[in-house]
Amino acid sequence: MFDIEHYFEAKSVEEAVRLLSEHEDAEIICGGTDVLVKLRDGKGAGGSLVSIHEIPSLRGVRVLPDATLEIGPATCFTDLTNHPLIQKYLPYLGEAVDTVGGPQVRNQGTIGGNICNGATSADSAATMQTLNAVVVLVGPGGVRRVPVTEFYTGPGRTVRQHDEVCRAFEIKPEDYVGFTGCYMKYGKRAAMEIATLGCCVRVRLDDACSRIEETRIGYGVAAPTPIRCRNTEAALAGKSVEDESIYELIGTSVLDEVNPRSSWRASREFRLQLISELAKRALKEAIRRSLNHEAPGAAVPGEERR
Ligand SMILES: Cc1cc2nc3c(=O)[nH]c(=O)nc-3n(C[C@H](O)[C@H](O)[C@H](O)COP(=O)(O)OP(=O)(O)OC[C@H]3O[C@@H](n4cnc5c(N)ncnc54)[C@H](O)[C@@H]3O)c2cc1C
Repeated sequence: MFDIEHYFEAKSVEEAVRLLSEHEDAEIICGGTDVLVKLRDGKGAGGSLVSIHEIPSLRGVRVLPDATLEIGPATCFTDLTNHPLIQKYLPYLGEAVDTVGGPQVRNQGTIGGNICNGATSADSAATMQTLNAVVVLVGPGGVRRVPVTEFYTGPGRTVRQHDEVCRAFEIKPEDYVGFTGCYMKYGKRAAMEIATLGCCVRVRLDDACSRIEETRIGYGVAAPTPIRCRNTEAALAGKSVEDESIYELIGTSVLDEVNPRSSWRASREFRLQLISELAKRALKEAIRRSLNHEAPGAAVPGEERR
């Protein structure tokens, strides 16, 4: 059924890097929910696969000594959303990956595959942008860290080299402490639907919960790659949460920072309308969650290992 030359099962990240270096035709496979669909369509047929699925160190979520959260790329969506650290510190990331496909896809598909496939429609992408997630890549020359905001180079393309394996995603405390967030996805149906548009808005309020200290706005499908809207983020700083004009501001300002396309799924005009409306709704919900005191403090090292 699948035209595969060799199938290698790496037992460590180092072995995976070596196998990729030795076999130019080889591609990484983790959950396989993208790779196998592509192969069945004839793309990459006759090539080899290096599986990283059975490398235990690539799974789970941990707290590093400096309170950085480390997410293993081979963590499937179901395990991610159910993980106590995600529920406590990054619930909006769980909310985002809960919208992927259906239960079977979420049991098999991984966050590493979702980011490394380079797709602008990937449901974790907008949220990871707002988290300033750092992509930890291991290659023959060692380890390099790339901010996810600099990871994408075009549709389906990233800065990852052929023989580099994503070993982890790191989220620093300054990127999650005190923030609430909300991910909203528009698709024509509730399940088994690739995003027509995905939007994540996160906010950090001042101690009195009356003003916005910081906003982060991330989109999928609003441009050829996942993006942030930094000018709009800056424009919202210092605004009162009771000032209803902030919703008009976000809904209008983001339109200057996006570049959606028309596709068979939706026209550019419809996407622009979604970009504006989802931002307003996600901001409202993120603020509501902050006023409800849902913003987390820093994770405690050793709190949860897996
Ligand atoms: C029926 C169906 C519905 C779907 N619905 C959605 C949806 O609603 N939303 C959505 O976002 N996606 C959806 N997808 C796409 C897919 O499930 C996700 O993109 C998933 O996250 C891919 O993860 P994976 O582990 O299966 O990746 P794989 O298929 O194993 O790999 C995907 C790509 O990432 C690379 N890769 C994987 N892991 C690493 C790593 N650690 N280091 C470097 N490169 C790596 C692979 O080489 C490959 O290029 C759907 C897929 C199917 C089949």
